[in-house]
Amino acid sequence: MRLLLIGPPGSGKGTQGERLADALDVEHIAAGDVLRGHVSGETKLGLEVAGLLRDGELVPDELITEALTPALSAAAEQGGYILDGFPRTLAQAERLDRLGQRLDVAPHRVIHLDVDDGELQRRLLARAETQGRSDDTPDGIARRLELFHTTTSPVLELYRERGLLITVDGARTADEITQLILAPLSDALAH
Ligand code: ADP
Repeated sequence: MRLLLIGPPGSGKGTQGERLADALDVEHIAAGDVLRGHVSGETKLGLEVAGLLRDGELVPDELITEALTPALSAAAEQGGYILDGFPRTLAQAERLDRLGQRLDVAPHRVIHLDVDDGELQRRLLARAETQGRSDDTPDGIARRLELFHTTTSPVLELYRERGLLITVDGARTADEITQLILAPLSDALAH
């Protein structure tokens, strides 16, 4: 099973990504974690993108696509993936379409974690206290939410039109959300 997990910052992509990967026995690939790994490892890419991550800006489409391609094709060869945080722009979705055809890694379904901005702000400010991520500042949070609404929402529309989108209420408990995601998938797997 190959799934995309798309949602605003703080919507629980990381938590659900782990749970779904366990439940479906596939690899969890988190775009933000891959980039933060490059930043802490001080790779060439990491040095290039550190400032963008800190400011809550998106990394250029070409760089993020290149950074994810090896993990994506390796995971797909081993049975699938949960890809969280990609694509975040229509241009990235087009790149994923091309990769999908070339490497047979196209997603079967796209999960949208839906949470309202007030709840997201509360969660992210709480996370800032415990995790110290460089972009969990009031300005960084506001910018990431803005980018989600302006730039990532059209990606959800694209997958809705293709009939691949499953929207889930991300304000429920983590257990309920996992069940809400898995239920329609088992139907999809059975047919
Ligand atoms: P959040 O959803 O809380 O913003 P992520 O860990 O998913 O957290 O992303 C953190 C940052 O990594 C983003 O603000 C952006 O700078 C970068 N990033 C992650 N995914 C992408 C992507 N698909 N395209 C461009 N930049 C990305």
